[in-house]
Amino acid sequence: MNKRDYYEVLNVSKKASEKEIKAAYRKLARKYHPDVNPNDKSAEAKFKEISEAYQVLSDPEKRAMYDKFGHPLSRDGADKSESSRWSDFSQFDFSSFDFKKSGFKVGDLGDIFGSMFSGKREDSPASEPVKGSDIQYTMDLSFEDAVQGLNTRIRLQREVSCPSCHGMGTERGFYLETCSACKGTGQVRTSTGFLNTFQTCSLCRGSGKINKNPCRTCQGSGVILQSEKISVKIPAGVDNGSKIRVPNKGNVGRRGGSPGDLYITTRVRPHPFFERKGDNLYCEVPITFIEATLGAKIKVPTVDGEATMTIPMGTESGQIFRLRGKGMPHLKGAGRGDQFVTVKVVTPKNVDPRMEQLLRELERLHPENPRTHLQSYVPH
Ligand SMILES: [Zn+2]
Ligand SMILES: [Zn+2]
Repeated sequence: MNKRDYYEVLNVSKKASEKEIKAAYRKLARKYHPDVNPNDKSAEAKFKEISEAYQVLSDPEKRAMYDKFGHPLSRDGADKSESSRWSDFSQFDFSSFDFKKSGFKVGDLGDIFGSMFSGKREDSPASEPVKGSDIQYTMDLSFEDAVQGLNTRIRLQREVSCPSCHGMGTERGFYLETCSACKGTGQVRTSTGFLNTFQTCSLCRGSGKINKNPCRTCQGSGVILQSEKISVKIPAGVDNGSKIRVPNKGNVGRRGGSPGDLYITTRVRPHPFFERKGDNLYCEVPITFIEATLGAKIKVPTVDGEATMTIPMGTESGQIFRLRGKGMPHLKGAGRGDQFVTVKVVTPKNVDPRMEQLLRELERLHPENPRTHLQSYVPH
Protein backbone atom coordinates (compact mmCIF):
# COMPACT_ATOMS: atom_id res chain seq x y z
CA MET A 1 0.00 0.00 0.00
CA ASN A 2 1.39 3.36 -0.98
CA LYS A 3 1.27 5.77 1.89
CA ARG A 4 0.73 9.43 1.33
CA ASP A 5 3.46 11.82 2.29
CA TYR A 6 3.03 12.74 5.97
CA TYR A 7 3.47 16.46 5.29
CA GLU A 8 0.85 16.26 2.58
CA VAL A 9 -1.50 14.39 4.93
CA LEU A 10 -1.27 17.17 7.51
CA ASN A 11 -1.27 19.82 4.79
CA VAL A 12 1.90 21.52 6.06
CA SER A 13 5.18 22.41 4.38
CA LYS A 14 8.37 20.39 4.92
CA LYS A 15 9.71 23.34 6.90
CA ALA A 16 6.69 23.59 9.19
CA SER A 17 7.48 24.29 12.84
CA GLU A 18 6.42 21.94 15.65
CA LYS A 19 3.72 24.43 16.52
CA GLU A 20 2.37 24.53 12.97
CA ILE A 21 2.31 20.74 12.79
CA LYS A 22 0.46 20.50 16.05
CA ALA A 23 -2.08 23.13 15.01
CA ALA A 24 -2.64 21.42 11.66
CA TYR A 25 -3.09 18.07 13.36
CA ARG A 26 -5.58 19.39 15.92
CA LYS A 27 -7.63 21.07 13.25
CA LEU A 28 -7.82 17.92 11.11
CA ALA A 29 -8.29 15.59 14.07
CA ARG A 30 -11.32 17.50 15.26
CA LYS A 31 -12.78 17.47 11.77
CA TYR A 32 -12.34 13.75 11.14
CA HIS A 33 -12.68 12.35 14.63
CA PRO A 34 -14.92 9.24 14.74
CA ASP A 35 -17.06 10.86 17.44
CA VAL A 36 -17.92 13.69 15.08
CA ASN A 37 -18.44 11.35 12.12
CA PRO A 38 -20.17 8.29 13.54
CA ASN A 39 -20.24 5.28 11.20
CA ASP A 40 -18.25 7.13 8.56
CA LYS A 41 -15.50 4.70 7.49
CA SER A 42 -13.72 7.18 5.25
CA ALA A 43 -13.52 9.75 8.06
CA GLU A 44 -12.13 7.10 10.39
CA ALA A 45 -9.52 6.08 7.82
CA LYS A 46 -8.61 9.73 7.37
CA PHE A 47 -8.36 10.18 11.12
CA LYS A 48 -6.01 7.22 11.41
CA GLU A 49 -3.91 8.55 8.57
CA ILE A 50 -3.48 12.01 10.11
CA SER A 51 -2.82 10.51 13.54
CA GLU A 52 -0.09 8.31 12.13
CA ALA A 53 1.46 11.26 10.32
CA TYR A 54 1.35 13.33 13.47
CA GLN A 55 3.00 10.62 15.54
CA VAL A 56 6.05 10.79 13.37
CA LEU A 57 6.21 14.50 12.51
CA SER A 58 5.61 15.69 16.08
CA ASP A 59 8.69 13.85 17.33
CA PRO A 60 11.91 15.59 16.23
CA GLU A 61 13.89 12.33 16.12
CA LYS A 62 11.26 10.45 14.13
CA ARG A 63 10.77 13.41 11.86
CA ALA A 64 14.48 13.46 11.08
CA MET A 65 14.35 9.76 10.22
CA TYR A 66 11.31 10.28 8.07
CA ASP A 67 12.93 13.18 6.22
CA LYS A 68 15.97 10.97 5.52
CA PHE A 69 14.44 7.56 4.84
CA GLY A 70 10.73 8.03 4.26
CA HIS A 71 7.95 6.07 5.86
CA PRO A 72 8.88 3.70 8.67
CA LEU A 73 8.57 -0.02 8.09
CA SER A 74 5.12 -1.27 9.00
CA ARG A 75 5.06 -3.01 12.34
CA ASP A 76 4.26 -6.49 11.17
CA GLY A 77 6.69 -6.14 8.30
CA ALA A 78 4.18 -7.85 6.07
CA ASP A 79 4.53 -5.44 3.21
CA LYS A 80 7.63 -6.61 1.34
CA SER A 81 7.46 -3.71 -1.08
CA GLU A 82 8.56 -1.40 1.70
CA SER A 83 12.26 -0.72 1.47
CA SER A 84 12.41 1.54 4.45
CA ARG A 85 15.48 1.49 6.59
CA TRP A 86 13.91 2.41 9.87
CA SER A 87 11.09 1.17 11.98
CA ASP A 88 9.12 2.85 14.69
CA PHE A 89 8.24 0.28 17.30
CA SER A 90 6.67 2.82 19.58
CA GLN A 91 4.18 3.66 16.91
CA PHE A 92 0.63 3.46 18.00
CA ASP A 93 -1.01 1.05 15.58
CA PHE A 94 -3.91 3.08 14.29
CA SER A 95 -4.76 0.72 11.45
CA SER A 96 -6.15 -1.87 13.84
CA PHE A 97 -7.38 0.52 16.52
CA ASP A 98 -11.12 0.24 17.18
CA PHE A 99 -12.36 3.65 18.22
CA LYS A 100 -15.81 2.43 19.15
CA LYS A 101 -14.56 -0.22 21.55
CA SER A 102 -11.97 2.05 23.06
CA GLY A 103 -14.46 4.76 24.03
CA PHE A 104 -11.82 7.19 22.78
CA LYS A 105 -13.15 10.77 22.79
CA VAL A 106 -12.15 14.00 21.08
CA GLY A 107 -11.19 15.22 24.51
CA ASP A 108 -8.67 12.39 24.83
CA LEU A 109 -6.55 13.71 22.00
CA GLY A 110 -4.45 15.86 24.25
CA ASP A 111 -4.01 13.01 26.70
CA ILE A 112 -2.75 10.59 24.11
CA PHE A 113 -0.76 12.86 21.89
CA GLY A 114 -0.09 15.91 24.02
CA SER A 115 1.57 14.01 26.80
CA MET A 116 2.90 11.24 24.60
CA PHE A 117 4.97 13.46 22.41
CA SER A 118 5.62 16.70 24.18
CA GLY A 119 5.88 15.29 27.69
CA LYS A 120 3.88 18.29 28.81
CA ARG A 121 0.27 18.55 29.84
CA GLU A 122 -0.42 21.93 28.35
CA ASP A 123 -4.13 22.60 27.80
CA SER A 124 -4.82 19.07 28.99
CA PRO A 125 -8.48 18.13 28.43
CA ALA A 126 -8.35 16.27 31.76
CA SER A 127 -8.75 19.68 33.37
CA GLU A 128 -11.54 20.88 31.11
CA PRO A 129 -15.02 21.31 32.60
CA VAL A 130 -17.48 18.56 31.76
CA LYS A 131 -21.24 19.17 31.66
CA GLY A 132 -23.28 16.89 33.91
CA SER A 133 -25.51 14.22 32.42
CA ASP A 134 -29.27 14.70 31.91
CA ILE A 135 -31.91 12.92 33.99
CA GLN A 136 -35.06 11.44 32.46
CA TYR A 137 -38.26 11.28 34.50
CA THR A 138 -41.74 10.03 33.57
CA MET A 139 -44.74 11.72 35.18
CA ASP A 140 -48.34 10.44 35.21
CA LEU A 141 -50.99 13.16 35.03
CA SER A 142 -54.76 13.24 35.21
CA PHE A 143 -56.66 14.58 32.22
CA GLU A 144 -57.56 17.67 34.27
CA ASP A 145 -53.87 18.33 35.09
CA ALA A 146 -53.13 18.25 31.36
CA VAL A 147 -55.88 20.84 30.78
CA GLN A 148 -54.93 23.16 33.64
CA GLY A 149 -51.20 22.69 33.84
CA LEU A 150 -49.65 21.86 37.18
CA ASN A 151 -47.13 23.19 39.66
CA THR A 152 -45.78 20.32 41.68
CA ARG A 153 -42.70 18.89 43.35
CA ILE A 154 -41.12 15.60 42.43
CA ARG A 155 -38.60 13.54 44.34
CA LEU A 156 -35.66 12.11 42.47
CA GLN A 157 -32.08 10.97 42.91
CA ARG A 158 -29.44 13.17 41.37
CA GLU A 159 -25.69 13.40 41.55
CA VAL A 160 -24.62 16.50 43.43
CA SER A 161 -21.21 17.86 44.36
CA CYS A 162 -19.97 16.07 47.49
CA PRO A 163 -20.63 18.46 50.41
CA SER A 164 -17.67 17.15 52.43
CA CYS A 165 -14.99 17.80 49.83
CA HIS A 166 -16.85 20.29 47.61
CA GLY A 167 -16.30 17.98 44.66
CA MET A 168 -12.53 17.77 45.11
CA GLY A 169 -12.59 14.09 46.07
CA THR A 170 -9.98 14.57 48.80
CA GLU A 171 -10.27 14.72 52.58
CA ARG A 172 -10.32 18.21 54.07
CA GLY A 173 -6.82 19.73 54.06
CA PHE A 174 -5.51 17.41 51.35
CA TYR A 175 -5.13 17.93 47.62
CA LEU A 176 -4.70 15.79 44.55
CA GLU A 177 -1.01 15.29 44.03
CA THR A 178 0.79 15.20 40.74
CA CYS A 179 1.64 11.59 39.93
CA SER A 180 5.34 11.03 40.61
CA ALA A 181 5.62 8.11 38.20
CA CYS A 182 4.57 10.08 35.12
CA LYS A 183 5.10 13.66 36.39
CA GLY A 184 1.43 14.28 35.77
CA THR A 185 1.50 13.38 32.10
CA GLY A 186 -0.44 10.15 32.50
CA GLN A 187 2.05 8.41 30.19
CA VAL A 188 5.24 6.60 31.01
CA ARG A 189 8.01 6.75 28.43
CA THR A 190 10.90 4.36 28.08
CA SER A 191 13.65 5.46 25.78
CA THR A 192 16.36 3.54 23.99
CA GLY A 193 18.08 5.71 21.43
CA PHE A 194 15.31 6.95 19.25
CA LEU A 195 13.03 4.00 19.92
CA ASN A 196 10.43 5.14 22.41
CA THR A 197 7.64 3.23 24.06
CA PHE A 198 4.75 4.93 25.76
CA GLN A 199 2.30 3.35 28.12
CA THR A 200 -0.55 4.66 30.21
CA CYS A 201 0.80 5.28 33.68
CA SER A 202 -0.30 2.38 35.89
CA LEU A 203 -0.01 4.38 39.11
CA CYS A 204 -2.55 7.09 38.21
CA ARG A 205 -4.30 5.18 35.41
CA GLY A 206 -3.53 8.00 33.02
CA SER A 207 -5.08 10.82 35.02
CA GLY A 208 -1.74 12.30 36.06
CA LYS A 209 -3.09 12.86 39.58
CA ILE A 210 -2.92 10.78 42.74
CA ASN A 211 -5.54 10.92 45.46
CA LYS A 212 -3.73 9.79 48.61
CA ASN A 213 -6.55 10.81 50.96
CA PRO A 214 -9.83 10.12 49.22
CA CYS A 215 -12.85 11.80 50.77
CA ARG A 216 -14.71 9.29 52.96
CA THR A 217 -18.12 10.62 51.98
CA CYS A 218 -17.77 10.16 48.22
CA GLN A 219 -14.86 7.64 48.11
CA GLY A 220 -12.93 10.19 46.08
CA SER A 221 -15.42 10.53 43.25
CA GLY A 222 -16.36 14.10 44.22
CA VAL A 223 -20.09 13.42 43.82
CA ILE A 224 -22.81 11.81 45.91
CA LEU A 225 -26.26 10.60 45.00
CA GLN A 226 -28.84 12.74 46.75
CA SER A 227 -32.60 12.43 47.00
CA GLU A 228 -34.02 15.82 46.19
CA LYS A 229 -37.41 17.49 45.85
CA ILE A 230 -37.60 19.58 42.73
CA SER A 231 -40.31 22.08 41.84
CA VAL A 232 -41.59 21.60 38.33
CA LYS A 233 -44.12 23.51 36.28
CA ILE A 234 -46.12 21.40 33.84
CA PRO A 235 -47.65 23.72 31.23
CA ALA A 236 -51.31 23.40 30.22
CA GLY A 237 -51.87 21.28 27.12
CA VAL A 238 -49.31 18.49 27.63
CA ASP A 239 -50.11 15.16 26.00
CA ASN A 240 -48.73 11.65 26.14
CA GLY A 241 -45.02 11.88 25.42
CA SER A 242 -44.64 15.66 25.85
CA LYS A 243 -41.15 16.53 27.12
CA ILE A 244 -40.56 19.33 29.59
CA ARG A 245 -37.01 20.52 30.23
CA VAL A 246 -36.05 21.72 33.69
CA PRO A 247 -32.68 23.40 33.16
CA ASN A 248 -29.75 22.60 35.44
CA LYS A 249 -31.61 19.95 37.45
CA GLY A 250 -29.69 17.02 35.97
CA ASN A 251 -26.50 15.59 37.45
CA VAL A 252 -23.73 17.91 38.60
CA GLY A 253 -20.93 18.73 36.13
CA ARG A 254 -17.25 17.90 36.73
CA ARG A 255 -14.43 20.36 37.14
CA GLY A 256 -16.74 23.36 37.17
CA GLY A 257 -18.86 22.19 34.23
CA SER A 258 -22.54 23.17 34.25
CA PRO A 259 -25.06 20.62 35.51
CA GLY A 260 -27.15 18.55 33.12
CA ASP A 261 -30.88 19.08 32.63
CA LEU A 262 -33.94 17.24 33.88
CA TYR A 263 -36.34 16.01 31.19
CA ILE A 264 -39.88 15.16 32.26
CA THR A 265 -41.93 13.01 29.88
CA THR A 266 -45.67 13.21 30.59
CA ARG A 267 -48.21 10.40 30.46
CA VAL A 268 -51.85 11.57 30.57
CA ARG A 269 -54.62 9.25 31.81
CA PRO A 270 -57.58 8.97 29.42
CA HIS A 271 -60.91 10.69 30.21
CA PRO A 272 -64.18 8.70 30.32
CA PHE A 273 -66.12 11.30 28.29
CA PHE A 274 -63.63 13.26 26.18
CA GLU A 275 -61.46 11.67 23.57
CA ARG A 276 -58.41 13.68 22.63
CA LYS A 277 -56.92 13.93 19.15
CA GLY A 278 -54.16 16.52 19.01
CA ASP A 279 -55.61 19.55 20.77
CA ASN A 280 -59.22 18.78 19.76
CA LEU A 281 -61.68 16.94 22.00
CA TYR A 282 -64.45 14.61 20.80
CA CYS A 283 -67.58 13.51 22.66
CA GLU A 284 -71.06 12.11 22.08
CA VAL A 285 -74.25 13.68 23.51
CA PRO A 286 -77.76 12.15 23.40
CA ILE A 287 -80.81 14.28 22.44
CA THR A 288 -84.53 13.40 22.26
CA PHE A 289 -86.35 13.16 18.94
CA ILE A 290 -88.40 16.16 19.98
CA GLU A 291 -85.23 18.21 20.59
CA ALA A 292 -83.95 17.00 17.24
CA THR A 293 -87.22 17.88 15.52
CA LEU A 294 -88.04 21.21 17.10
CA GLY A 295 -84.56 22.37 18.02
CA ALA A 296 -83.40 23.09 21.59
CA LYS A 297 -80.78 24.61 23.80
CA ILE A 298 -78.96 21.83 25.68
CA LYS A 299 -76.24 21.78 28.34
CA VAL A 300 -72.99 20.06 27.33
CA PRO A 301 -69.94 19.33 29.52
CA THR A 302 -66.71 21.06 28.45
CA VAL A 303 -63.33 21.13 30.20
CA ASP A 304 -64.29 24.63 31.42
CA GLY A 305 -67.63 23.50 32.90
CA GLU A 306 -71.09 23.37 31.38
CA ALA A 307 -71.72 25.14 28.08
CA THR A 308 -75.03 25.80 26.32
CA MET A 309 -75.23 24.38 22.81
CA THR A 310 -77.99 25.21 20.29
CA ILE A 311 -79.57 22.24 18.49
CA PRO A 312 -81.20 23.61 15.36
CA MET A 313 -84.62 22.47 14.20
CA GLY A 314 -84.44 19.26 12.14
CA THR A 315 -81.12 17.97 13.45
CA GLU A 316 -80.14 14.46 12.31
CA SER A 317 -78.73 11.79 14.59
CA GLY A 318 -74.94 11.66 14.15
CA GLN A 319 -74.64 15.34 13.23
CA ILE A 320 -71.44 16.95 14.57
CA PHE A 321 -71.30 20.39 16.19
CA ARG A 322 -68.17 22.35 16.93
CA LEU A 323 -67.60 24.32 20.12
CA ARG A 324 -64.78 26.65 19.17
CA GLY A 325 -61.93 27.12 21.63
CA LYS A 326 -63.23 24.47 24.04
CA GLY A 327 -60.44 22.00 23.30
CA MET A 328 -57.02 21.59 24.90
CA PRO A 329 -54.70 24.59 25.28
CA HIS A 330 -51.98 24.63 22.61
CA LEU A 331 -48.70 23.68 24.26
CA LYS A 332 -46.81 25.96 21.87
CA GLY A 333 -48.34 29.36 21.28
CA ALA A 334 -51.59 30.80 22.56
CA GLY A 335 -55.12 29.59 21.92
CA ARG A 336 -56.90 26.28 22.22
CA GLY A 337 -58.30 23.48 20.10
CA ASP A 338 -62.04 22.85 19.59
CA GLN A 339 -64.58 20.46 21.06
CA PHE A 340 -66.60 18.38 18.59
CA VAL A 341 -69.99 17.12 19.78
CA THR A 342 -71.72 14.26 17.97
CA VAL A 343 -75.44 14.20 18.81
CA LYS A 344 -77.28 10.88 19.02
CA VAL A 345 -81.10 10.90 18.80
CA VAL A 346 -82.58 8.55 21.40
CA THR A 347 -85.92 6.85 20.73
CA PRO A 348 -88.42 6.89 23.58
CA LYS A 349 -89.05 3.53 25.23
CA ASN A 350 -91.97 2.66 27.57
CA VAL A 351 -94.63 4.48 25.53
CA ASP A 352 -97.84 4.82 27.61
CA PRO A 353 -101.35 4.80 26.01
CA ARG A 354 -101.64 8.62 26.14
CA MET A 355 -98.30 9.08 24.43
CA GLU A 356 -99.17 6.51 21.77
CA GLN A 357 -102.45 8.33 21.10
CA LEU A 358 -100.62 11.63 20.57
CA LEU A 359 -98.03 10.05 18.28
CA ARG A 360 -100.70 8.30 16.18
CA GLU A 361 -102.49 11.60 15.82
CA LEU A 362 -99.25 13.24 14.74
CA GLU A 363 -98.71 10.51 12.16
CA ARG A 364 -102.21 11.06 10.78
CA LEU A 365 -101.81 14.86 10.63
CA HIS A 366 -98.40 14.66 9.01
CA PRO A 367 -98.13 11.52 6.90
CA GLU A 368 -94.53 11.09 5.81
CA ASN A 369 -92.59 8.39 4.01
CA PRO A 370 -88.81 8.98 4.25
CA ARG A 371 -88.19 5.91 2.03
CA THR A 372 -89.80 6.92 -1.26
CA HIS A 373 -86.40 7.14 -2.96
CA LEU A 374 -85.80 3.44 -2.20
CA GLN A 375 -88.48 2.48 -4.76
CA SER A 376 -86.00 2.89 -7.56
CA TYR A 377 -83.81 0.12 -6.06
CA VAL A 378 -86.59 -2.50 -6.07
CA PRO A 379 -86.28 -4.79 -9.14
CA HIS A 380 -89.42 -4.78 -11.38
ZN1 LIG B 1 0.92 8.71 36.60
ZN1 LIG C 1 -16.25 13.95 48.85
